[in-house]
Amino acid sequence: MKCRVCKGEATIKLESYNTKLCEKHFLAFFERRVRNGIADFKMFGHEDKILIAVSGGKDSLALWDVLKNLGYNVTGYHLVINIPDSSEDALARSREFADRIGSPLIVENLSDLLDADIKNAAHLMKRPVCSVCGMVKRYRFNRLANEKGFTAVVTGHHLDDESAALLGNLLHWQEGYLARQYPALDAKPGMVKKAKPLIYVSKKEIEIYAQIKQINFASSSCPYADGATSLEYKAVVNQLEEKMPSTKIYFLKTFFKKYRQLFKDTQLEEIGELHKCPECGYLTAGPICNFCQLKAKIAGRKIRVDGMIR
Ligand code: SF4
Ligand code: ZN
Ligand code: ZN
Repeated sequence: MKCRVCKGEATIKLESYNTKLCEKHFLAFFERRVRNGIADFKMFGHEDKILIAVSGGKDSLALWDVLKNLGYNVTGYHLVINIPDSSEDALARSREFADRIGSPLIVENLSDLLDADIKNAAHLMKRPVCSVCGMVKRYRFNRLANEKGFTAVVTGHHLDDESAALLGNLLHWQEGYLARQYPALDAKPGMVKKAKPLIYVSKKEIEIYAQIKQINFASSSCPYADGATSLEYKAVVNQLEEKMPSTKIYFLKTFFKKYRQLFKDTQLEEIGELHKCPECGYLTAGPICNFCQLKAKIAGRKIRVDGMIR
């Protein structure tokens, strides 16, 4: 097997692109895919102060690595969820990686933010654990970025995540989610701009990148991950990709082309009716934001029918 670029021995086969590469040219390919994503959606520039959500897993660490190599000013943010057999490893790998690349890492603990663990929080909200965990992480991440003067936030969502989410949003015609499912969202009052620079790379490509770069990521899986519905959608897009290589990227790219037509002149506030939460000022679609609702429930305060807290 020969590398398409240098004709030396290739060790990596990428079915989606019908190509074979050696390690050196795979790294160049990966970096180019990330650079193209950043450029195509005008995500951010070298003048931006970027905050990256770091879970300790391969996606966020690979993204941190590549952005650092591309010369961006990136700081990590890790929220410790206190999940037995999982959180300790995640924090250790995040700290270790921050030291290795010489980037700052901000760490917060859920127990300093809420008087309930994530399982009880999910029970109180009558929602799956992952849904509440994701909500709390997004809330803190976006608020902190705003408070600390960051100008962009980035996450390690990749091609597999986004194509699966798109399938789910289309199946249920979730217009508000579809309108926000763009790899770069502009800043608005109280919210800095958001980007997903791994939009053009797959989970498999991230795994290969992490292996070549010897990134020591957290391997202990979270016990709540199994129940996530997103896994069902991922299984479907993976099956399609196996039978028809490039399906994922084609599906997403076609949506992004249509996105401009569909949502170009639409204010996201109109679709999701976003406004400031009267309790904390965070943008929300409901009468008060989910995080303030959760805090009220933990404190045993009543939430009126109109959503306001008594
Ligand atoms: Fe949170 Fe779910 Fe991820 Fe576990 S798998 S850390 S509960 S979002
Ligand atoms: Zn090569
Ligand atoms: Zn709020």
